[in-house]
Amino acid sequence: MSRITALFIFVLFCFSSLTGQDRFAGVEIKETKLADNIYMLEGSGGNIGLVINGQDALLIDNQYGQLSDKIMAKVVDLASGKVTKVINTHWHGDHAGGNENFGKSGALIFAHENVRDRMAMEQVRGERVTPASPATALPVVTYRDNMQLYFMGEPIMVMHVHNAHTDGDSFVFLPESNVLHMGDCFFHKRFPYIDVGSGGSIDGMIAAAEAALMLVDEGTQIIPGHGPMATKEDLQKYHEFLTTVKERIESYVNVGRDRDSMDPDKIVAGFDEWAWAFIDAERFTDIVVESLSKGN
Ligand SMILES: [Zn+2]
Repeated sequence: MSRITALFIFVLFCFSSLTGQDRFAGVEIKETKLADNIYMLEGSGGNIGLVINGQDALLIDNQYGQLSDKIMAKVVDLASGKVTKVINTHWHGDHAGGNENFGKSGALIFAHENVRDRMAMEQVRGERVTPASPATALPVVTYRDNMQLYFMGEPIMVMHVHNAHTDGDSFVFLPESNVLHMGDCFFHKRFPYIDVGSGGSIDGMIAAAEAALMLVDEGTQIIPGHGPMATKEDLQKYHEFLTTVKERIESYVNVGRDRDSMDPDKIVAGFDEWAWAFIDAERFTDIVVESLSKGN
């Protein structure tokens, strides 16, 4: 091997380790037990719900495709079985990125019809382009409003909420176990992302939080799309945050002030500890202003 070739391979290796699979190399899948046969799994990306019925496992979301092997190994650990069903709470790759792998391994994938439509087509958000997913990654069973399936001897209620984080969000509720997965309609202890380009809206996020509050009680274990497990009280605080931010921004808009003259720190005051790397006060203000200006 010439020195030039060796150098080229070395550079290629460094580059790929910065940008490629290695981002996931150190990720471990951790479980939190919620009930006898129900877990929350965390790795990288959106929180996963795992429901075990003998040797069958149902996943609510599945994170990035690069983590599928680790998630499958964790399911073998906990269930001595495999994933036969997947429900997608929405189309984003940090939640549904494993669809292709789980679909190939035989899982039946359920999602709202808009999830399938968006995954089947290239999605462009500013400079970020998400290519269309291969056919094997697409949901096989879709629904327009609600769906109920029976697993582990209890009903699993899948409910569509309109134009919240995207236009294809679903809640997954296990009423007998009293567990609710809210997908990205709930970011716990951090500012939420609203994908206005996918039909998401601040009003829909507020309505989704209100719908969830109608479902839960003090004993409900709530799995948020991101952040730690939550309770009804946490969800109430998050609802207060959403409505407060909307009111504060509207008070600017009502007196004719544009985005440049708004003070994001004042808009999120009282909740500023929820700022994080992806969404700070500036970005969240931008998102809500964009949503309101679209009439969403
Ligand atoms: Zn999302």
